[in-house]
Amino acid sequence: MANIKDYAIVTLGSHTALQILKGAKDEGFKTICVCVKGKERPYKSYGVADEFIFVDSFKNFFEIEQQLIDRNAIMIPHGSFVSYLGWKKVQDIKMMHYGTKGILEWESDRNKERIWLGDAGLKQPRIFATPEEINCPVIIKFHGAKGGFGYFIANSTAEFYERIQNYPGDEGYVIQEYIVGVPVYSHYFYSPVTKELEVMGFDKRYESNADSIGRIAAKDQLDAGIRTSYTITGNMPLVIRESILPQVFEMGERVIEESRKLIDYKSGQPLTKGLYGPFCLEAILDPDLNFYVFEISARIVAGTNPYINGSPYTWLRYNEPMSTGRRVARDIKQAIEQDRLEEILG
Ligand code: AMP
Repeated sequence: MANIKDYAIVTLGSHTALQILKGAKDEGFKTICVCVKGKERPYKSYGVADEFIFVDSFKNFFEIEQQLIDRNAIMIPHGSFVSYLGWKKVQDIKMMHYGTKGILEWESDRNKERIWLGDAGLKQPRIFATPEEINCPVIIKFHGAKGGFGYFIANSTAEFYERIQNYPGDEGYVIQEYIVGVPVYSHYFYSPVTKELEVMGFDKRYESNADSIGRIAAKDQLDAGIRTSYTITGNMPLVIRESILPQVFEMGERVIEESRKLIDYKSGQPLTKGLYGPFCLEAILDPDLNFYVFEISARIVAGTNPYINGSPYTWLRYNEPMSTGRRVARDIKQAIEQDRLEEILG
């Protein structure tokens, strides 16, 4: 039988690396952290990495890739990995990579993502092609906006033109229906080994300053000229109404089914392995309990970080601490032990 001792698990020291590396260690793997020089403190302090490989910037990943190949390492991609390399460069990775690389193009492009989610039958906020069509509250999202900084809300065409003047620059934007409700981020895991979809947990984001504006009166907000921003600072655990869970499972299932029909940018063929491993549907839940999904992340999300010791949902299923990072490592472990590693590499 193939032995997991012959493999190592690696990720970049950022985003969800603590739970990925801890989870891999708990499953018995050797772990490697690729770290930007000077950023290693948490990974050393929490003792999650057996080995460090240092880079000046994550953009230099390809300079050290061969070292990882020599160590028989499997890369677990996360948000920082995809954002530093870009989906296109990820396609050029030669080392073992957990997850379907071709999916990343579909999650990175707002238009492609909409087609995917739409074909999966999910409700999404409407998009307005021109400001003239605005007939409800809208949120304007600039393409270059880092972490939601600089979005603004308008209630009419006139208000749009008035407010856009405060945002000089020619970067593009999208005008999206503003859904009044609460943000709910659903964390999933689909295993190609067990062929089962799991709901791992939920989170809500702690965004600055959006999550503190309500602490001062509307008049003071106006007087101080406060503009809303959505800079993510952390994540908070969330348990949702139990009666909504069937809907959550169904949404995840449909997204997976549809992902197997998406076309691979490189081969021009459908991505038959589709989406697997951890993913997240990012939605606003309105008062009628409709999920309006505004984004999909086709990899582990930072919202799983509160659950390094497991979530209420993983506790139900596993009866042992099971973070999303550890769940990935277990998938890899079972695939190795059943000689099915190919099925989980993409
Ligand atoms: P995004 O950059 O698309 O992840 O959005 C940043 C934040 O803006 C989200 O976490 C939500 O709090 C909020 N948001 C985004 N889209 C909508 C929408 N269509 N309706 C209401 N709130 C939204």
